[in-house]
Amino acid sequence: MSTTEASSPTPLTYEVFVNEPPPQDGVLPNGEPKLFSPMASTLIYGGRDAVLTDPGMTEDQAHVLGDWVASKSRNVTDIFITHGHGDHWFAAGLLAERFGARIVASAGTIEQMRFNAAARPLLWDKVYTGIPPTPVTAVTVPDNRFTLEGHELAIVEVGDTDSADTTVLHVPDLGLVVAGDVIYNGVHMYLAQSVIVGGFGPWRAAIDEVEALEPRHIVAGHQNKQLDDDAGRTIAQTRQYLDDTEELLRTEETAVDFFNAVVERYPSFLGRTVLWAGAQTLYGRREHPEADIRQIIVDSWL
Ligand SMILES: [Zn+2]
Repeated sequence: MSTTEASSPTPLTYEVFVNEPPPQDGVLPNGEPKLFSPMASTLIYGGRDAVLTDPGMTEDQAHVLGDWVASKSRNVTDIFITHGHGDHWFAAGLLAERFGARIVASAGTIEQMRFNAAARPLLWDKVYTGIPPTPVTAVTVPDNRFTLEGHELAIVEVGDTDSADTTVLHVPDLGLVVAGDVIYNGVHMYLAQSVIVGGFGPWRAAIDEVEALEPRHIVAGHQNKQLDDDAGRTIAQTRQYLDDTEELLRTEETAVDFFNAVVERYPSFLGRTVLWAGAQTLYGRREHPEADIRQIIVDSWL
């Protein structure tokens, strides 16, 4: 091999796999069956190795995603988790075992993973079946940086968005941000965290931080797979959704009114079950300010 070849790593590529939401009981206020939002996993790869992000929640999702990853014929070195919500990582152990990969996250996300694993019997296992064992085996990396065939991958901590301690993965050589739940794309956003942090200010600041990375492409954790990954469009849409729902929270008096008003304004958006869960938390807090907020959040999903 010549020195030129040795110093010029293979350019990176990325591909996105959007999973099918798991089955769920119950109906929404408009009568349609409850269904969770689709969740996106990203495979970033070079000539030999690959990094996988947010591998989903259930055993079924892990099998389907794992077969897709295997079809790319790369050595998966790391599985990166953007934040602690179980729908993004409960399947990580199965994928790590299948591919012999390390699981990587920020220290804050690892703390949230432990919290969500502990909350399984109260929440996740009441709503979904087929979640595998979820020991938290994720590790941090020095300075929140790791590499893929010599290309830098940077974990950027952006704080409260739809969860606490959320992060994005910046891949400068691709102009890519894997945004977890900081940026959404054609899917209703989970708004409940705003009750805990006092509004959408922290989320708006996180969007600004993503924009400052000047990405061309953004993979939103929850997306309609028919849509593109244009960074400018998805950032603008995410900001607009926060503005619109903030306005409707002022004008709508009940959770059902709010749900209907948001659906009317965003008729093509997927993930109405997540909209309804957030609405019940926001209005539950308003109507019962004395109640335990964690109990309100759990009840909003059941
Ligand atoms: Zn999510």
